[in-house]
Parts: sequence; C-alpha cells; structure tokens
Amino acid sequence: MGENHNLTARCKDGSEIAVEIGISPMRLDDKRYVVATIADITERSAIEQELQIAATAFDSHEAMLVTDSQGDILRVNDAFTKVTGYSREEVIGKNPNILQSGRHSADFYHDMWERINQDGCWQGEIWDRRKNGEVYPKWATITSVSDKNGQVSNYVSIFSDISSVKKAQDQILELAYYDPLTGLPNRRRLVEYLERAMVESKRSNMFGALMFIDLDNFKIINDTLGHEQGDVLLKEVANRLTTALREVDIVARLGGDEFVVILHELESDGNRAMQYARHIGENLIRILAKPHILEGRSYVCTGSLGITMYYGNEVSIDEIFRSSDVAMYEAKKRGRNSLRFFDPEMQASLEKRSQMESDLRIALKKKQFVLYFQKQVDNEGRIIGMEALVRWAHPERGMISPSEFIPVCEDSGLIVPVGHWILTESCRTLSQWQQHDSMKHLKLAVNISIKEFMQDDFVSQVNLLVDEYGVHSDRLELEITESMAHDDLDALIEKMHQLKKTGISIAMDDFGTGYSSLSYLKKLPVDIIKIDRSFVDDLGVNANNESIVKTIAKVGESFGMDVLAEGVETEEQFRLLIEYGYKQFQGYYFGKPMTADKFEEEFQSIPRREK
Ligand code: C2E
Ligand code: MG
Ligand code: MG
Repeated sequence: MGENHNLTARCKDGSEIAVEIGISPMRLDDKRYVVATIADITERSAIEQELQIAATAFDSHEAMLVTDSQGDILRVNDAFTKVTGYSREEVIGKNPNILQSGRHSADFYHDMWERINQDGCWQGEIWDRRKNGEVYPKWATITSVSDKNGQVSNYVSIFSDISSVKKAQDQILELAYYDPLTGLPNRRRLVEYLERAMVESKRSNMFGALMFIDLDNFKIINDTLGHEQGDVLLKEVANRLTTALREVDIVARLGGDEFVVILHELESDGNRAMQYARHIGENLIRILAKPHILEGRSYVCTGSLGITMYYGNEVSIDEIFRSSDVAMYEAKKRGRNSLRFFDPEMQASLEKRSQMESDLRIALKKKQFVLYFQKQVDNEGRIIGMEALVRWAHPERGMISPSEFIPVCEDSGLIVPVGHWILTESCRTLSQWQQHDSMKHLKLAVNISIKEFMQDDFVSQVNLLVDEYGVHSDRLELEITESMAHDDLDALIEKMHQLKKTGISIAMDDFGTGYSSLSYLKKLPVDIIKIDRSFVDDLGVNANNESIVKTIAKVGESFGMDVLAEGVETEEQFRLLIEYGYKQFQGYYFGKPMTADKFEEEFQSIPRREK
C-alpha cells in the first residue's frame, strides 16, 4: 500500500509549488523498491481552494442566485429562500423576473441590463415581491461571469433585504422632518420647501406667499381642557388647513399653535397675487373659526394670519419669516381673527421698537423710571390702597406711558430687571407709608408681567424684598393680567399659592379683555378681579357691556373674589357700579396717577378708612 503527501516544494528558481508525493513499495526481481512519484499540483490545489471559497460564500447570509446565460435560474442558496420565501425547487429553471414587484418601469430594467452587459456589473436598490406577496426593498449586485472565450456563461445576483434599514431611515427622516402630532412638515422641512419654492418663483416669474398662522385662544383651551384635547384641536386645525389648500401648497407646523403655509406660484402680477393670497387667507380664517367639538362641547379657536409676498429668492428666508411673524402680530393687535400683509411701515415700527429697546437699557442704567400711584377707594370714596404705575422720564421726550414701553420690555426680556426695580421701589414706598399711622393700612398693588412672574426665583425675590424693607406682606398685592395665560398653568398656580402663603394677595387685572373662561378663572387662586376700564367706559351706553359688568360682579361674589372697577371717570359710573355690587374702585374720578410725594401731601385732605 502506498501513501500520498501534499507538500510545498521550492523550485530551483526560488518559487514555491504545491506537490503531491506518492510513495509505494514495489517488488522487482525479488528485490524490494520504494517508488516515489512527485506531481506538481499547484493548479489543482488553487482550483480546489477556489471551489472551497465559492461554496462558503454561497452559503453566506446574503441571498444569491446564479443563472445561465439565458437567465434561467441554476442555483440559489438558503438565504435566498429565507428572503424571498421560494424554495430551490420552485425557482430552479425559472427566470428571476418572477421576483419582480411591478414597482419599476421597463426602462429601469432596460438600463440595468445595459449596465450589466457593458460593465459586467450593476449595483442598486430594487423593490421585489416575496412569495407571500409582500413588496420589499433589496440591495442587489448583479455580475456577469464569462467563460474562457469571453462569452457570458452565467449571471450571479447577490442581494440583501434592506426593508428594516429603510424603515429605520424613514423613521429618522420622519422624526427629523415631520411634526409627530400632526404629521405636517416641521420647521426644517419648511425651510427646504421655501428655498425650493423661491428658486422656482424666480424661474417662473410668479409671486408666492408665506403665511404665518397663530391660533388666538389655543392656550386657554389647552389649559382648561387639558393637553389631550388641545392635541385633538391641533390635529383638526392641521386637517382643515391641508384640505382647504391646493396640492402644491405646503402646510407646516412650527410648534405650539403656530402653523405656516407656503402659497406656491400664485400669479405673475404682484397685485393679483396679493388679492389671491388675501382671498385664500380669508377663506382659511373662516375655516379656522368654525367650532370644534371637544368633550361634547363646542369651542371656537380663531386664527390670526400674517402674510409676506415673495418673488424670486433675493430676500433671505430669515427675513421672510420675520416679516410674516411681524404681520401676524399686527393682525393679533388688530383684534385677532384677521389677516395682515407685511408692509414697510411695519418694518419702520419694528426699527423704532429696536431703537426703544436700546434706549430702555440706558434708562435702566440711568434710573430714568419713576413710579406714580393711583388711588383705589371703597364705595364711600375712602382710600384703601394705591396702584403703582411706572413711567419713563425720558430726557428728550418727557414722560412716556407704560403702554408704550412695557410691551417692548416684555418682548426684549428687559421686563425682568425693570420689573425688579419697580418691585423694589414699591416695597420701599410701602415701608415708608408703614411709618405713618394714617397710612399704614394702605395696600399697594404692583403690576407684574408674565415673564417676570414665571422666573424660577420670582417668589424668593419677592420674599427677599419684603424682608429687606420690613413690609407687611398683607399690604402687598400683585396684579397679573388675564392674558397671562401661560403654557405652564400648573407652575403659574403653584407660584400664586406660594405667594399667597406669605400673605400677599393676587389681583386679576384687565379682566374681560382676554380669553379667560370662567373655568380658567376658577382654577386660579385670585383674591380680586379688576374689571377692565373699557367696560366701565360704556356704562349707560352699551347694554351688552353693562350686563358683562353685572355678571362679573356676580362671578366674583360666587367665587369669593373681590371685584374692583377700573377707569371710573364719572359720578354716574360710580353710582351704577355700587348698585351692581362693586366694592372697590379706581379711576380719574377719584384721582389720576401721581408721584409718591404728591400723594403723601394730598393724603392728609382725603377721608380715611376707619381702622
Ligand atoms: P393697568 O394696570 O390696567 O393700569 C390702569 C391704567 O389705566 C393706567 O394707565 C391708569 O393711568 C389708567 N387709568 C386709571 N384710571 C383711569 C380712568 O379713569 N380713565 C382712563 N382713561 N384711564 C385710567 P397707565 O399708567 O398708562 O398704565 C397702562 C398699563 O401699563 C397698565 O394698565 C399696566 O398694564 C401697565 N403698567 C403700568 N405700570 C406697570 C408696571 O409697573 N409694571 C408692569 N408690568 N406693567 C405696568
Ligand atoms: Mg394694573
Ligand atoms: Mg387694568
């Protein structure tokens, strides 16, 4: 019996070859021999190795199919069966087009084959159909194999199922570009759309428009009915907007209750484009104002629209956004539920505002603010307290009204330091009054803006000042306005409770002008409601307002809150208000706001409330 050994041998020229050495015993002429044969098996072993590799590769986790030159399937691997659902027997001898999903055009396959025939290989994404009918995306590489003569002998297709990758990709895209609540494009996507729309507008010489929409009283509904109902409303708004617009227009949600619409390629004539945009805007306003049924009840949530026209892409996206925002705020200022186009006048007023902002910073540094005080009286005209009202003693413009500069302070955040000054000055004044027997019963009401109130440390700031000036906290009243409807109603209420614990009282200022519902008011731990002076103004003229004035007095009574009437200017108004049940009053009839000095001087001549 002989034996064979495979070894590597080195040739004379130094190269290595694979050899098979055969050794076998042999008898010849009664003599024993050992015969050794050496064969060069380099080529054979290379082929074997390749076959080994091919077999391993064929069993890989990637699906594979091999066809002959006619495209008939010769072989498939296990992974193929796993991905497609077809067994070997079901596909051998068939054409791979049984896998097609029908999603691609004939051109697609034509181009693909052209590539394979030209370059010997094609790679790309194909949507195929599994045996169970499911359509899925796969990433495929198709290679042609040629024989020694250069003739195509086989095609090999290697592919993997990329549906999960695609799904993840889509999810990421969805998260990055779409608002999860409404499914509308988000800000990022909107910017991309607008960029494209502006380029297209330049090409087509057509005007387009960007529309900002802000819901007018969403916050109140959200706060009173809860976020779930708020979400229902937002989805409905998204739906109404989308169905009301053309397919080419884009509706996006910026967040909260802010939506944006791109009106694409309206008209080539500027005026007509504007008319068209107005027409669409008015239609949207009407659609938005239709009632929503939430928890079985009907709620109206109107919208304010700001529109900027664009033509080409010369103006920056930022500027168009800003302009639409300004126009939207202008619409809000004009009584909401309306639309405004951006115009250069608005720009001018914007610039004036920014000038005022820098002047206000100087005013703060140079202590140009002054506190005035206005009397609050009982039904016999006796002074029970004062309201602190800030003024800006401008070195050139004279006394400036808070209605002019407080909104700028609020927008710029300056209200925080300005408000702190007001509160400090108020506490200082109150502590002075406390030194006089005749004045120490007076309470002082201080107006507080929402941004100030919602500072994390607002309560401790107030407490510190109260301690520092030794103020009796039950003499201090903080006025917040009804429009303070804040995102975080719970936090607002919590702060109000914390303040009340120390004895400070809370007044709801300008009541009736915002959107407060009674259920909203009931949630707030308010001590006193100040009915806005616009209602008092109309007493005896407007019967509707008169009934509001009466109702508010009753609401106060039933909620256990005091009611104060602001802006009393005549004896007749005073008389009527007493009749309706008001107990506290403020207005020019009793005195205009005045400086602390003037008040202290005048106080001696005014009847005092008995202790
Ligand atoms: P408000 O808190 O509702 O103050 C009442 C406003 O009505 C005051 O205007 C007052 O002068 C005016 N007023 C009072 N009685 C009458 C009247 O009989 N007839 C008329 N026509 N007006 C009357 P003022 O001082 O111009 O303040 C305007 C608003 O500015 C205030 O409204 C308040 O919202 C805000 N404000 C004033 N001071 C401050 C402050 O210190 N901090 C904050 N955050 N806001 C303030
Ligand atoms: Mg006030
Ligand atoms: Mg007021």
